[in-house]
Amino acid sequence: MSVEFENAWYDLNLRLRELESSAGLAAALHELETHHLNSGFIANSLHEIERRTFYHPHNSERYFRVQYNPRRALRFAGSDRNGTQMPVGEKGCFLCRDNIEWQQQGAQLGYRVETGERSYYALTNPFPILPSHIVIASTEHHTQDWRFRDENGLDIADLIDDLVRLADRMPGHLGFYNGVDGGASIPTHLHLQFVQRPDNATRFPLEVAARAVGGSAGTDGPSFVEHYPLDVAVWVGAPDDVVARASRWLTHWSDRNRVRLDKLSANIIASRDIGAEELALYFVARDRAKPRAEGFSGLAGGLEVLGELVMSSADEKDRLDDGSIGYFDIEAALASLRVSLDEG
Ligand SMILES: [Zn+2]
Repeated sequence: MSVEFENAWYDLNLRLRELESSAGLAAALHELETHHLNSGFIANSLHEIERRTFYHPHNSERYFRVQYNPRRALRFAGSDRNGTQMPVGEKGCFLCRDNIEWQQQGAQLGYRVETGERSYYALTNPFPILPSHIVIASTEHHTQDWRFRDENGLDIADLIDDLVRLADRMPGHLGFYNGVDGGASIPTHLHLQFVQRPDNATRFPLEVAARAVGGSAGTDGPSFVEHYPLDVAVWVGAPDDVVARASRWLTHWSDRNRVRLDKLSANIIASRDIGAEELALYFVARDRAKPRAEGFSGLAGGLEVLGELVMSSADEKDRLDDGSIGYFDIEAALASLRVSLDEG
């Protein structure tokens, strides 16, 4: 790595560290985004996104959203921000710091984030789905897969601990873990994603459904959403409490589901509102054979699970414009991803 790159990285981290200690992690990551907007590494492309809401014909409490986001078509493992193909694997890994300088010609810098046990680099996402789309990549090259499938994989308790702690430090944001074949575009390198909630009042369809069944606070187990196309376990509470309860439940869940774990992946989502003491954690099991919602081209990840489908192809844009996509089509598409939690 060049001295210039190391110096620029060091200076930015020093500045962001000071900002984090005075104003919090979200402010530091916002400044990371501003740095890359100013340098031209990322463009403010969110205005290209068209977002539409589809309501249930007889119940305005129930709705789904679609975003048409043409730039997302450029996002697949191994392509840089200009869409150039890169070799895949550790040598060409997009999220390894050693590769970031030459892949992005020194234009991309990261910010080191510690969670206590583990460390990450926060990186801006050149193909955002929501404001302040940040990738939180492990400082080590380490699989995205969980230990249920890969013996070198992630321990679910560690994963939940990091996701919840980071969400707690970033109120007003949503944090995602997308498992392998569950929306992860770079399955070889562990990464979480955070996006800013479009505004503090905006609720995603899953959050509305979860609120309707209550928060499960004061009980040991999760609550389960109803009237939603996916099976979702939800924990609400103080961060320590959520981590402890979710880890315990998932350990038992994995024991009960041992025979089918090999075929499963997951989406895990954590979020704390600005000014709120409690946060919410969502767990959705995914079928590794179904990385996409039926009839849609994109990989389905945490945002889709929340009830917002991302479309990026011209064909999908046509279907959106000619009125051939409606509430029940989206519901059916999401239901095609459904995996029962209580089997076994
Ligand atoms: Zn890597």
